Order: sequence, then C-alpha cells, then structure tokens
Amino acid sequence: MKVTQLSGGVGGARMARGFAALDEVDLAVIVNVGDDQLLHGLHVSPDLDTVVYTIAEIEGPMGWGRADDTFNFNDELKRFHIDNEFRLGDKDLAVKIYRTGRMAAGASLSEATAEIAEAFGVEAKILPVSDDAVRTEILVDKGGWLSFSEYFVARGHRDEVEQVRFSGAEESTPAPQVIEALRAADIVVIGPSNPPLSIWPVLAVPGVEEAVQSHPRVVCVSPLVGGKALKGPADRVLSSLGLGTGNQAVVAAYESLVDVLVVHDSDAADGDLIDAVTVIAENTLIREAGPAADLARKVVDLWH
Ligand code: GDP
Ligand code: CA
Repeated sequence: MKVTQLSGGVGGARMARGFAALDEVDLAVIVNVGDDQLLHGLHVSPDLDTVVYTIAEIEGPMGWGRADDTFNFNDELKRFHIDNEFRLGDKDLAVKIYRTGRMAAGASLSEATAEIAEAFGVEAKILPVSDDAVRTEILVDKGGWLSFSEYFVARGHRDEVEQVRFSGAEESTPAPQVIEALRAADIVVIGPSNPPLSIWPVLAVPGVEEAVQSHPRVVCVSPLVGGKALKGPADRVLSSLGLGTGNQAVVAAYESLVDVLVVHDSDAADGDLIDAVTVIAENTLIREAGPAADLARKVVDLWH
C-alpha cells in the first residue's frame, strides 16, 4: 500500500510517523520548503528536519529540533550581537552544516535530504516539494510583507495575516519523484498541518495541486481540535484570510482537493455542516507514536 503525504512541520510529521510505523505502508512524504532560510550561512529547512527527527523518534519537546539538545552555539552568538532568536540546538546544527556543505558541493536539496534521512535510519522517502527556492511571505496589518521567520519567530505569529504569497513558486519545478509519488499513491494524505502556511506552499509548486486534484482518494487530517490549532496560528490565519472557522475553514482552504476529512471525535458534529466531503471522526491527538499509528491504520483501512 503506497501512501503519499503532504506535510509541514510538527503536525504533519506526527502523522507521517504514524504511517511509517505500519509495515504494509510504503510511505513518501512531500514536505514544505517555504520556511527554508539561510541563517548564519547555513541552509535551514525546518520542516524537512522536523519530519526526519519525528519519524526517527528523536524530535524535541516542542515538536521541532532534537530531544536532549543543548544550545551552546546559539547562546554564544549573543557575544557578537547576532540575532539568535531562531533557536538552533547543537545536535540540530550538525544536520544544517551537513546539508549546507553538500549543497555547496553541488548536491540538490532532495539529494542532501535523502542522505540525512538515511543517516537517521528513516526508510520513508522524504521529498522536499521542490529543489528550487520557494519562500512563504506574509502580509500583516502593521508591517507589510514579512519573511516567514520574521512573522513566525521574530514577531511570534501575533500579527493578523492579511495575505500570503509563495515567492519563486511559479518558476519552480517539483523535485524528482514528487509527482511520481502522487501518481503512484494508493492514498494521498494531507497531514494535520497549517493549511495556508504549510500546505499551500506545497500545492503552489506547479503540477502538485493538479496531481492531488486528480487523485481519487485524498484524505485530510484536520489540524484543529475544538476549532483551535493545537499549536501555532492555523485557526487565526484561516479566519483572517476569510476562510471561516473550524473544520469548514479547513475544507474551504482545500477547495475541491479533499475526498475525506478526518476530524477529532469531539468535533464529530462538524460533519453536519460540511456537505462537500465525507467527514469521519477519530482520535486525532497524535503527539505520541501509538495514537499516531492507530490513526494511520484507520486512514489506510478507509479503502480496504
Ligand atoms: P509547523 O507549523 O511547521 O510546525 O508545521 P505544521 O503546519 O505541520 O504543524 C502545525 C499544526 O499542527 C498546527 O495547526 C497544529 O494544530 C497541528 N498539530 C500539532 N500536533 C497535532 C496533533 O497531535 N493532532 C492534530 N490533529 N494536529 C496537530
Ligand atoms: Ca514550518
């Protein structure tokens, strides 16, 4: 059974870990690169690293970075008055340095990613959606267009988001195997990621949305529980972009891409308000590996 999942960082990575735990699943994860940035001369790919660390079961306590990391390097930057608000742990840094070195030597982002995944024993295919630079930019009320990390890290995602755009997306091409992984999939999954900030930049790479659209079995796992994101600004962003509230807003964010929406048990009644897709209710709290695998099994069994 081939499962291909679209993913941002923490929420998407937790779902991917669930599929990776199922023996019968051959998993490919297509990951957002809209949050990538050059930082201290290093190529930082937050969502790719979160997916690899989470599947390898070594993710940090907040879902990003590594478990049991230290921040000596990051703290030391203050000596030079370098902005160190974007936290980079010492173990985590090794991955960033490795990626940067490989890319400086001519490797593509997807080649470097495959090597990193292998180094952590991750068997699933981890595919950046593109090897080209696609950068999420956010228009906020008082501040104009911001880079993703300016909005998310420096300003703590407090601003009201008025528009999003994905700089470079139009000229980008999907990384090798991305379209093939969507075409060959028995099931396409849109993970419980922030729809506008984590999944739209994946869909913005030419050919990706079309491949998802034409797939007959697309399941989305909602990132909302009781109308709220478990972490981050997904509910506020959906609403400020005019998509509405709750799981109806999640469906609206994906227009006609999704066939089945999986919501949390406590949101089962949302199904009555949504006509466009089949809604099923399950335990979608998947911070731990066990519940993530249980949910993955339910998704796989939808078409058994
Ligand atoms: P990030 O923002 O780069 O970390 O990436 P994502 O967009 O993939 O993750 C953020 C989203 O994950 C938030 O909207 C959360 O609500 C969602 N999320 C985090 N943990 C869980 C979980 O256990 N279950 C569900 N359903 N969503 C989750
Ligand atoms: Ca992210």
